[in-house]
Amino acid sequence: MFLGFLTTGNRDRMRPDGDLPAPVSRGAILRRGLAHACPNCGAHTLYPRALRWVAMNEACRKCGLRFERGEGFFLGAMVVSYSFTGLMLVPILVLVIAGMINVGPAVALMAAWCVLFPLAFYRTSKSLWMMAYYLALPSDLPANGGGVEPR
Ligand SMILES: [Zn+2]
Repeated sequence: MFLGFLTTGNRDRMRPDGDLPAPVSRGAILRRGLAHACPNCGAHTLYPRALRWVAMNEACRKCGLRFERGEGFFLGAMVVSYSFTGLMLVPILVLVIAGMINVGPAVALMAAWCVLFPLAFYRTSKSLWMMAYYLALPSDLPANGGGVEPR
């Protein structure tokens, strides 16, 4: 809503002097995305303490931002994960082509990489995808006056 920031639910985001909340810059969105923090408020609330390797909170406990924008939103995180996984295979292929590694060990190494890296990169890929979304559309953040429904 146009004047939604004036409602009591958003009072905690107001500056102490009662003025409008400071807008979140693209630099802040970038830093927060790399740090696995909420893009709206910067709190480290993306993942619960328990099960943090497999589960993501639905919304920020501090500001109420719903992390999943809609059904299938995090399919983009899979693209991020596949891209990083594939990029990291290039150096192994270069070593095979240069004759520095035999094909057998290279295939085993790449297979292990393709299984282990996406598991280790799972949390980061979701955070990077959300960061990319809000870098493209920073005005969608509630702190920037966007239409995302706060808690
Ligand atoms: Zn938040």
